[in-house]
Amino acid sequence: MASGTHYWQVLQDGRLDGLEMRMLLCFVTGVTRTTLAAWPERVLGTEELVRLEALVGRRVAGEPMAYLIGRREFFGREFSVDRRVLIPRPETELLVELALERLPPQGRVLDLGTGSGVIAVSLACERPDLQVDATDVCAQALEVARGNAQQLGARVRFHESDWLSGLTAGERFDLIVSNPPYITANDPHLQNGDLRFEPLTALTDHADGLSALRTIIAGAPLHLASDAWLLLEHGYDQAQAVRALLSEAGLTGVQSWTDLAGIERVSGGRGPSFSD
Ligand code: GLN
Repeated sequence: MASGTHYWQVLQDGRLDGLEMRMLLCFVTGVTRTTLAAWPERVLGTEELVRLEALVGRRVAGEPMAYLIGRREFFGREFSVDRRVLIPRPETELLVELALERLPPQGRVLDLGTGSGVIAVSLACERPDLQVDATDVCAQALEVARGNAQQLGARVRFHESDWLSGLTAGERFDLIVSNPPYITANDPHLQNGDLRFEPLTALTDHADGLSALRTIIAGAPLHLASDAWLLLEHGYDQAQAVRALLSEAGLTGVQSWTDLAGIERVSGGRGPSFSD
């Protein structure tokens, strides 16, 4: 694109799909879609053009839109994302909905492997009465999560921890939730599309896809309050295996829930009842 390029000319550039080009144009110019539509004759500044060209090049090379514009919507809110964290997926909203339905007033909830923080921050925003804790093994991811909590005014306590290992013994929660890495090490999807640009350790356990889920299921019961739920997101073909692991760990009421695509995407169960 040459200097003197008008907005309307950018939108006719054939390298990207129209919607994506519009998003990038709005991003570099800082104007809204409405302004864009109202002022198609406007000309991009030289600097804007340089930035736009760079972004278009990265998009053509396959980089996800969410990383290019640094944002992704989740559960009705805008989150900052970059290559330090997994891009939030719409199916993970199911996990948030199921957690909200089960959390008692002033309940304590723990999000394991929080990444960008979308689950923990959404829960804290929806329900300011909750006490929300979140862990991640990756300090860089926690920086992103903390930034999101701050931007959205969410009260979340973040902890650097390898799953449950950093928790205080005897600390118990009214609900534990997690969207761990569950893609198998040799899954060809890891070499395709957006996934190529995402942090590998947020996607795969570098094993059979169930090892993080096993670790969480083994450790969670010691940190569940009486009758408290453990809710886990997993892969499209893992529901049966995860239900078996939950039952073996002594959880009750074990079941799975389907996402909007009709795929069993979340499984969970309740910890033991304490008769105190
Ligand atoms: N749902 C993601 C995908 O299939 C994977 C996220 C994860 O491993 N937790 O791309």
